Amino acid sequence: MNFKITAYGHPLLRKISEDIDENYPDLKELIEEMFKTMEDSSGIGLAAPQIGKSISLFIVNSTIDENNKNKIKKSFINPEIIETFGKNYAFEEGCLSLPGIRENVVRKEKVTINYLDENFKEHEETFDGINARVILHEYDHLEGILFTDRLSSLKRKMLSRQLQNIKKGNVDVDYPMDFYTKGKGI
Ligand code: ZN
Repeated sequence: MNFKITAYGHPLLRKISEDIDENYPDLKELIEEMFKTMEDSSGIGLAAPQIGKSISLFIVNSTIDENNKNKIKKSFINPEIIETFGKNYAFEEGCLSLPGIRENVVRKEKVTINYLDENFKEHEETFDGINARVILHEYDHLEGILFTDRLSSLKRKMLSRQLQNIKKGNVDVDYPMDFYTKGKGI
């Protein structure tokens, strides 16, 4: 069974995620299900808050991008960004929690990150290209930040109707989503 993707408007997407330890229940199964959910919705990155869990975990699978020479398929637990460096550049991003929205976001070119893998082995690695881009986007999710927060206020204003529609569930999407329904139908 795949997870539903938490839609924009859900307060969980705005929470700071909690670190986990090795005793977190069924972690390997959770990660496997996340990979499956992500692949079925054609994503290349997915953070735990996007499947309704406010824990410090995200996954990246850039192997589906044919142009990418440095393909990775990894899980990042309790990640900590050490530094971002290189040029600032704009690149088009999308997000499974914000279906239909794609915008250029400016981020640094490279990132050095410390994280635990699914076996709780610690790594410190530097990534660039699409991998760095996805890692920075997913890391933001753990901090309650969405890529639209990084756009100009004018751009955000232009997107406000579309964002409100996602919030209300008025969106055409081919994967299951969890819309925040507080107060709906009462
Ligand atoms: Zn996202």
